[in-house]
Amino acid sequence: MAVAALEVVGLKKVYTKSGRPLEVLDLERFTVRVGEFITVVGPSGCGKSTFLHIVGGFIKAEAGSIRVFDHEVREPGPDRGMIFQEFALFPWRTVAGNVEWGLEVQGVSKAEREAIVRKYLDIMGLTEFRDHFPAEISGGMKQRVALARVLAFDPKILLMDEPFGALDAQTREVMQEELTRLWERTGKTIVFVTHDIDEAAYLGDRVVVLTTRPARIKEEVTIKLPRPRDITVKKSVQFLEYRNRVWDLIRSEAADRRG
Ligand code: ADP
Ligand code: MG
Repeated sequence: MAVAALEVVGLKKVYTKSGRPLEVLDLERFTVRVGEFITVVGPSGCGKSTFLHIVGGFIKAEAGSIRVFDHEVREPGPDRGMIFQEFALFPWRTVAGNVEWGLEVQGVSKAEREAIVRKYLDIMGLTEFRDHFPAEISGGMKQRVALARVLAFDPKILLMDEPFGALDAQTREVMQEELTRLWERTGKTIVFVTHDIDEAAYLGDRVVVLTTRPARIKEEVTIKLPRPRDITVKKSVQFLEYRNRVWDLIRSEAADRRG
């Protein structure tokens, strides 16, 4: 069998909240194929961010195995690139300086850094902004810089936690379309968490719907919309059927919990 980009088995996470255990994750199996674009949706507070942070190696789980390209995850590493809703750029560094940062930390030579930075600024449409500071560019631009910075590491898998959640609706759609192009161009594996169901159905090869806490996989919806997908696909009947299916799953999850 081919190696999975991500293979999670028997993952359990329990926090302690006000002195009491809070069961957050109970994932039997979560598999992502190499090159797949997976979107994850689920009720607020079900454990989506916790899940991504565990895969990122930033939080420890109580039980379970996490393998990224067949390597057990124990700590953060350059094989996994994380993108959050908050842009987390260095305000004192230029756009180019932000993208260059991780490469400096890794000890990449100046000439090589410059070539890599140029490549990803170009891919993300940032070349003309290279000498701007974060305060001088828009939210959408900042998120492009964050993406370019992570891509410069050449991670095998991108872990994205509601990355477009802080953007206005129009910028968000532009970024969604750009991300699909970037994915098609780079062949990266992406795990993308969102609470926006349209976004999940538009971006994903598969939408994984989680239950309320502790999060389990409720159902997976395979999205067989043609690629490349531009934003106009959101108007198609096929798309609406998929997003309604995901909506129904989320709604029934909420109803189940209300009993
Ligand atoms: P989501 O991203 O799906 O909204 P989170 O993973 O952020 O959910 O959080 C899941 C649950 O765990 C929430 O109830 C949250 O309050 C709780 N939680 C998150 N981080 C901690 C922590 N460090 N300690 C205790 N409880 C936490
Ligand atoms: Mg979250």
